[in-house]
Amino acid sequence: MKQMMMVMGCMMASGAVFAAPQVIHQNLQPGGFYVARVAPDSTVKLGKDSIVVGPKGEIVVGFDRNAALKQVLTVCGGQNCKETVLNLKPRTYVTQNVTKVPQGTVTPDPVQEKRVAEDNVATKAARDKAEAGARWRDGFTQDWILPITAPTSGVFGSRRTYNGTERSWHRGHDLAAKTGTPIKAPADGIVRLARDTFMSGNLVMLDHGGAVTSVYAHMSEMDVKVGDEVKAGDVIGKVGTTGRSSGPHLHWGMYWKNIPIDPILWVRK
Ligand SMILES: [Zn+2]
Repeated sequence: MKQMMMVMGCMMASGAVFAAPQVIHQNLQPGGFYVARVAPDSTVKLGKDSIVVGPKGEIVVGFDRNAALKQVLTVCGGQNCKETVLNLKPRTYVTQNVTKVPQGTVTPDPVQEKRVAEDNVATKAARDKAEAGARWRDGFTQDWILPITAPTSGVFGSRRTYNGTERSWHRGHDLAAKTGTPIKAPADGIVRLARDTFMSGNLVMLDHGGAVTSVYAHMSEMDVKVGDEVKAGDVIGKVGTTGRSSGPHLHWGMYWKNIPIDPILWVRK
């Protein structure tokens, strides 16, 4: 046994044995993600972009709405590198027309626009903070639960018109439920933002590590504050219809770095 371990040790040191990433969970499509474990001292790249490796070798990457269908992950230990090709399945997007939202949220006046700009700065700062501390949380490795159990009223990636005017595509998944329905954290995280915003209404952002963040918009009530640590299942707020919203629902968004990804793909069917 001892001899075998020594042989193994030599092989590891010379790099003759170099394991492929072990998948923890994945959903390979535009808007999807890939979570795996590699040797903790590896360096990892997706295409040319460096990927943060967690203390236990956890890695996560997200794919944007229009991601190329062939993605190459390169894992290196010392001088030895291994490429893993991730083939994404193609995806199409629908158009959704949303009516009866407050007209000011479609064509904001200069004062409202200033507020939107301030909200965007605060949101980006919160997301940057999550990215800076990407190594220190591993909520992204967990099995995710739904924040509320409710019918879908809007899907990720759809082109959107509001009161007949085309606006940016939908960066999230909408679940329609009564005002006051408790919203649960779908995975462990820390609160990076809890802010009354013009477009998203009462908005909470959770940081799950690996530069993965999730947002909960249009809440009637926020039950957490910046810096709070939450566990999966903890109530973070209540469903509402604040901001650019036509009725009570939860807008659930997710980001990897600053790339919007599709939250519903994280929930195991
Ligand atoms: Zn939405």
